[in-house]
Amino acid sequence: MAFVLALGLLLSSRLVVGDFGYDGDNGPDNWGDQCQGKFQSPIDIEEKDVTYHSFPPLQFYGVSASHKARMLNNGHTVKIENLESHFPEISGGPLNGTHVLQQIHFHWGQSDDLGSEDLINNHSYSMELHAVFWRKSYGTADEAMKHDDGLTVLGYLYQATDTPNADFDAIVTHMSDIQPVNSNVSIDDQQILSKLILPQSSTPEDYFTYKGSLTTPPCSEIVQWIDFVQPQNISHEQLAAFRRIQSNDGTNITHNFRPVQPLDGRIVYRNKKMDEATTTPKSTTKEDSTKNLKPTSPINGEHSMQPNATSKPDKMDKQDNKKSGQDSMWTVSPFAVILGIIFLLPYQ
Ligand SMILES: [Zn+2]
Repeated sequence: MAFVLALGLLLSSRLVVGDFGYDGDNGPDNWGDQCQGKFQSPIDIEEKDVTYHSFPPLQFYGVSASHKARMLNNGHTVKIENLESHFPEISGGPLNGTHVLQQIHFHWGQSDDLGSEDLINNHSYSMELHAVFWRKSYGTADEAMKHDDGLTVLGYLYQATDTPNADFDAIVTHMSDIQPVNSNVSIDDQQILSKLILPQSSTPEDYFTYKGSLTTPPCSEIVQWIDFVQPQNISHEQLAAFRRIQSNDGTNITHNFRPVQPLDGRIVYRNKKMDEATTTPKSTTKEDSTKNLKPTSPINGEHSMQPNATSKPDKMDKQDNKKSGQDSMWTVSPFAVILGIIFLLPYQ
């Protein structure tokens, strides 16, 4: 009898939400049927196989504003959350409508020669940052998660070098404060979201984009991935600090990347920059959008070529596009946003 009870407890403990890891019984091979779909992430992106396409300019709103933010150890990664009532937003590119920042987190490896989730030409970078956004027209992150175009994730790749990346100073300095699981600390840099989402060195018009999934359980196939092609640098020492945070069982999280999944016929697009000479600069009124992108012109039939073109154009999108910008964030109630954040906590 005691044996049966013990076995029952053992089995039920495997079902606890968030109880997943990267090795052995909790590893990616045992994440269950929910992670066996046809549009899983990450993937290997082979440059020779991508389809070039000119998407409308990717637009960033409210990113450069000051943001109080905190970072926390959720037992799987280092997660960064905005504490302000105004949130960075993005639109354009392959996206339908405006998307609101939910959180930022990282994936890394046990050594500097691997760690990114998506691979480029079968090359693994040392670390990958994911900035997760939910589609504003769904009202809440919770609701957005129920739709196959509910999320978009911006992916940034980092290669280990000898030179520290100053954008990470405020994160790495306080990493020891979040070593125990579920601990958190304020980030001493109110430009941290801007530094991570729009780094000076980046070329945000050069990206791969494809339809995929969350890379952790429940692996929901609801993500439009946008991976920036140009990697950035991070020092060996800065990376080592990430590997010292601890998981639920008290051991160091030395690696937290999921292996690549089959592409299964999906098309990976690469945004094609139009020749500058043939484009007319477009005036912009949004605070951040001028910083980022050379204007591109949508080509004929563009909608039919977009990866998420199956979504019908809807009135809600037109509405939220019209109002997009940080001052419209609170068309979603604060309560709904908090609920959404709580709901998404297990999903990183
Ligand atoms: Zn991730």
